[in-house]
Amino acid sequence: MTVPLIDPFERAITYLRVSVTDRCDFRCVYCMAENMQFLPKKELLTLEELDRLCSTFVGMGVQKLRITGGEPLVRRDIMTFFNGMSRYLDSGALKELTLTTNGSQLERFADDLYAAGMRRINVSLDTLDEDKFARVTRWGRLPQVLRGLDAAQRAGLRVKINAVALKGFNEDELFTMTEWCASRDMDLTWIEVMPMGDMGETDRIGQYWSLEDVRTALETKYQLTDLAERSGGPARYVRIEETGQKIGFITPLSHNFCESCNRVRLTCTGELYMCLGQEDMADLRAPLREHPGDTQHLETAIRRAIERKPKGHDFDYSRQTISGQMSRHMSHTGG
Ligand code: SAM
Ligand code: SF4
Repeated sequence: MTVPLIDPFERAITYLRVSVTDRCDFRCVYCMAENMQFLPKKELLTLEELDRLCSTFVGMGVQKLRITGGEPLVRRDIMTFFNGMSRYLDSGALKELTLTTNGSQLERFADDLYAAGMRRINVSLDTLDEDKFARVTRWGRLPQVLRGLDAAQRAGLRVKINAVALKGFNEDELFTMTEWCASRDMDLTWIEVMPMGDMGETDRIGQYWSLEDVRTALETKYQLTDLAERSGGPARYVRIEETGQKIGFITPLSHNFCESCNRVRLTCTGELYMCLGQEDMADLRAPLREHPGDTQHLETAIRRAIERKPKGHDFDYSRQTISGQMSRHMSHTGG
């Protein structure tokens, strides 16, 4: 292994999130417009290129890879990539290979993912009501996702549910979702809705529901214990004493956790974003394509990028207008 990746604020970069496609079989209202324009195929990194890039990062000290998108499981032959990455789990270079998915394809892939060494996945699910699910995902169908969840748990994958907190939409499901997750031995994380991409006002479902309010509502029914555990990301965790399950709160709009940020994000076109909330990025596709068979150029480009990792982001909901708004969609950088 070469010298580990350390940014200017002495944070070791050990976590890479990789978006393997910008495409998706859903059109969640807070994430995509209904008529999204997707990238032409030639812009995308091939699976071999993704393998080379991730291998270089692993060689530079990345220990955790999270694959995301778009919907990662709709990328053709994606198992080839996962099977390739499993060699680093076998060698011990990688501690975790994991996935964030909408669950639509899990019924088909769960066993293969387990066989590739995956042990935990995050499944995004905002509601347990079939009609509301169809409304928020536009193209998704709840029973398909529920079958996927069953398959994942049967295969031995530990599942965490991620739900975007939307006022007036899933507020009334706080307790039913908590108890449904507990009954299936799944942790649940609430995500604050972020100002990513311009979806137009008419598409906004619900509103910003502060996670402080989510927590206060939970406290009316359960006893919560704060957990010291940190993910190196913008998540805080509590345990519900009555059910024993862990509840996470992802508040990317708070700055509290930027100082422990250990992650960078790679898009499916080879752009490396050093911060989810900043426009600055480094193009890794050019050094990758211009120098096949040589990782030196790529390593240099990665080190230069990490030297520019900012201290934090500029999202701010504290005023009437949303400042720090990002024009790119979440499906581009990968949530
Ligand atoms: N398609 C996969 C999925 O839905 O899990 C992976 C990609 S998706 C972009 C990753 C996560 O980002 C999902 O949990 C989704 O709910 C979340 N997300 C998308 N747009 C968001 C937004 N504007 N604010 C907060 N979370 C968002
Ligand atoms: Fe697709 Fe995930 Fe975005 Fe929903 S949140 S549109 S499932 S990428």
